[in-house]
Parts: sequence; C-alpha cells; structure tokens
Amino acid sequence: MYQNNYLSNEKLPFSAILLDMDGILFHGMNPIEGAIDFMHSIEHIPHVFVTNNPIRLPGSMADKMAEIGFKRPDENLIITSGEATAAWLAQQKPNFRFFAIGAEGLHQSLQKYGHADHENADYVVVGEGEGLDYASLTTGINLIIKRGAQLISTNPDKSVDAFYRGKRAILPGAGALVAPFIIATGKQPVTIGKPEPLLYEIALQELQAQAGNCLMIGDRPDTDILGAQQLGIQTALVRTGRFAPGEKLPEDMPAPDWDADSLMQLKQMLSLT
Ligand SMILES: [Mg+2]
Repeated sequence: MYQNNYLSNEKLPFSAILLDMDGILFHGMNPIEGAIDFMHSIEHIPHVFVTNNPIRLPGSMADKMAEIGFKRPDENLIITSGEATAAWLAQQKPNFRFFAIGAEGLHQSLQKYGHADHENADYVVVGEGEGLDYASLTTGINLIIKRGAQLISTNPDKSVDAFYRGKRAILPGAGALVAPFIIATGKQPVTIGKPEPLLYEIALQELQAQAGNCLMIGDRPDTDILGAQQLGIQTALVRTGRFAPGEKLPEDMPAPDWDADSLMQLKQMLSLT
C-alpha cells in the first residue's frame, strides 16, 4: 500500500498509474525497449500492475521482472486475474471449494483462500495454461449440471500472444478454454479479468485513488483500454504488443487518450523525466 509521503507531479493530469505487463513491459523473458527506463521515470508516482495472465503468482512475476532487468516490484502491487479470482470467490463464499483447470499459479492462488474438491466444488474455475482435457471437462460439466457449481473464467481473452515450448505462439486464452463448458452446460461464466471491472477496482483500492485521477497503460484496446474507460480511468495505448505503430485500430474499439508507438514515446508525450 502506498503511503502519501511523496510529492505528486503537478504537471501530470493523473496521480497514479495502472500498468498492463505482457506487451508493454516484456514479451516472454525479453524486456521491451524503453520499458526499464520508463519504470525508473515513474518510480515516484504510485503505480500497480494489472494482468489478465493467471499463470504466475505475483511473487513469481516480481522475480521474473528482476531477472530480466527491472527493479523488483513489491509483489502486493501485482494484481493477476488468478489472485483477483481467488479474492472475489472468498468474498462470495469464505472457505469455498473449487475445481480448477489451468496453470499451477491459478491453483496456488485459489488454495490461499479455498480448498480443492473435485466432488463437491462450489466453483468450476477455468484459467489459462495446460489442464483442459476430456476428463477435466467431464468433471467440470458434472459439477455444474448435477451439483450446481458456478462456472468462473479468470479472464475473457480469446487468445494470448505468448511463448510455448520455447517458441513465440498464439495460445488459447481463458475465453476459449471456458467455451466448451458454456456449450455443454448452457451456463454463462462469471468473468473476472479485464475489461470486467474487478481487477481495476482492486487496483484502485490498492492505490487509494479515484478512477478519474488514474492512468491505465496497456497494449489491448478490447481489454486494457475498454475496461479502464468504463470506470472513468484515463488511458494510454502502447503499440508494442497487440498493435504495431501505424496499424489501424478496429473501429468498434474505444480510442485511448494517448496513443503511443512505445513507452519511450509515451514518456515524451507525458513530459516525464
Ligand atoms: Mg498486454
């Protein structure tokens, strides 16, 4: 939690920053050019990281950032969709029982607040990473239809740009992995990650800031920018991930307040030193 013992930069139209991670700070284990310098230049501004990626725990994400050259952030400032999902489920039902399908980090996040129980789960939680197969789909469908378990999706991304077995690849997102459960059960999931408001609301609580006084920086108009705008957060799109410089944005997507080719350019636009 940030203490109010810093001086705010009076020139800036915001007093706190939310940052996406994949596609603006790094691709896999490669820092994006200018990102380490940008993080130094906003060191004095309260900031948090919000990521739809539920695969790593916040501590592991912080370690990864340190390993690739960033100053290691406080892990409390990293809000993943896996952590947000676990915290939200604990609010709905303390000591909840879950059946989860996805990466190890998601299981670990859920175990902090609830208990794995494949026979009597209250929630079937679907996130990114390996784990979906015929058996897990069958278990999940039966929990939902026969036992009334609620279907939960960590994030709505249909696909994600990432690394798989050492190679850059497009991987199925949680939105794709949850689809067979929707088809088989006829139930819609509760979805936690961006552009849904929950991740942002946790971030604003952490920052103790009003939405209108914050800036969200991300690479995806459909999640990062849309979700922030719906809450009244100012937005900056950086074209080092989903979109390249000069590439036309889809017309049904909201325009960001700032549209920068890189974090280096955004730093200039904001007159950060
Ligand atoms: Mg991103």
